Amino acid sequence: AAYTKDDIVSLAKKENVKFLRLMFTDLFGIIKNVEVPISQLDKLLENKLMFDGSSIDGFVRIEESDMYLYPDLSTWMIFPWEHEHGKIARIICEVYNADRTPFQGDPRNNLIRVLKEMNDLGFTEFNIGPEPEFFLFKLDPITGKPTTQLNDKGSYFDLAPVDLGENCRRDIVLELENMGFDVEASHHEVAPGQHEIDFKYADALQACDNIQTFKLVVKTVARKHGLHATFMPKPLNGINGSGMHINMSLFHKDGNAFFDEKDEMQLSESAYQFLGGLLQHARGYTAVTNPTVNSYKRLVPGFEAPVYVAWSGRNRSPLVRVPIARGLSTRLELRSVDATANPYLVIAAILEAGLDGLRNKVVPPASVDRNIYVMNRQERQDNQIGDLPSTLHNAIKALEKDDVMEKAMGPHLYPSFIEAKQLEWSAYRQEVSEWERDQYLELY
Ligand code: ADP
Ligand code: GLU
Ligand code: MG
Ligand code: MG
Repeated sequence: AAYTKDDIVSLAKKENVKFLRLMFTDLFGIIKNVEVPISQLDKLLENKLMFDGSSIDGFVRIEESDMYLYPDLSTWMIFPWEHEHGKIARIICEVYNADRTPFQGDPRNNLIRVLKEMNDLGFTEFNIGPEPEFFLFKLDPITGKPTTQLNDKGSYFDLAPVDLGENCRRDIVLELENMGFDVEASHHEVAPGQHEIDFKYADALQACDNIQTFKLVVKTVARKHGLHATFMPKPLNGINGSGMHINMSLFHKDGNAFFDEKDEMQLSESAYQFLGGLLQHARGYTAVTNPTVNSYKRLVPGFEAPVYVAWSGRNRSPLVRVPIARGLSTRLELRSVDATANPYLVIAAILEAGLDGLRNKVVPPASVDRNIYVMNRQERQDNQIGDLPSTLHNAIKALEKDDVMEKAMGPHLYPSFIEAKQLEWSAYRQEVSEWERDQYLELY
């Protein structure tokens, strides 16, 4: 919603808001809060509120620690949860340097920068509709810590409210609606204990803010039900993992720029070129869309998650699917993304990839309407089907080679991200796992 400073001051007074939660997102997609009493509201609205940036992962060094938080007034929202000390409102902020320039290590600022490139090419909006999936696990009744115990036996689109999970999800949906979300669908997913909630697409920046808020709401409500909600991509062996498919479309002043009635698939030239860019840079942005060691345990054959770089108008095994809806809903669905990704970085990366396709008039390979999992290597080669990186290590290497991704992330985020992810990989590769002991301890 569009609020003025005066609106916010009077809303805060009318609703008796006691605390302000100033939110932004770090390099790893984790929400950071600076909480201040309502007495700081005027200072905040005048862009005079400072915080210590050196305490935030991937931000700045000690010697440049003073930073400003500039509130995005449109993100003002009062949390519906009751609180013993009074109401809490949140406002999402942009991080600014002490010299009052936008801090380029703030992923949200970086996305704003890339969105301007899009505007320069004549598009008005990059619309994003996410489909986040998550598991609900029981909390240990004694320690209060999350377990990996499932609480239900339900599966995809089960009708009977079999258990706690269903009630919890219903509660999450109600809470989201209280907060202004337009929830389009909510259902049990393929795996036991797995759920999906889809909310209406929005312009890139708002969609990313929504994703961040969504994760917070899901986790908060789950806890009230004695459950732990996790967006970890593959918490359990042998069953589906959790993705966060990203539906996307470019709009211009006449509506959806991906739609063209006259084309055989009713897709515009822009749609094909954007798709071409998405496929061309797929290996490059995978470290961003799938940024954890665990992400790659999901990207394996047999669980509806993509493994190969291809697109289709029909089946769900390729990286990009073109859902059948046309007109305003004409869109591309990127199926690799998982919710451990930083949404601001993901959207900046895929937008830059698509814009690169437009600038270079990239022609995508033909669509693949067969099940790729059953093709052999030669057949995949003949159809120009490459594979996604199979580990975080390979993904980082591909990211390092991709100049367009360097441009998408900018001179602060790109090297910090690569360095942090290399450390993560190197910590992981030194671990000896149960699987290895099972395989080798007795055999050798
Ligand atoms: P699926 O077919 O994969 O199950 P869903 O119907 O669950 O997809 O989700 C569709 C998502 O796409 C919703 O978030 C919806 O708002 C979004 N969407 C619809 N039209 C557009 C569009 N033009 N651009 C981007 N996202 C869109
Ligand atoms: N859970 C699947 C994944 O890991 C997706 C299932 C679906 O198509 O909704 O991507
Ligand atoms: Mg799903
Ligand atoms: Mg989907």
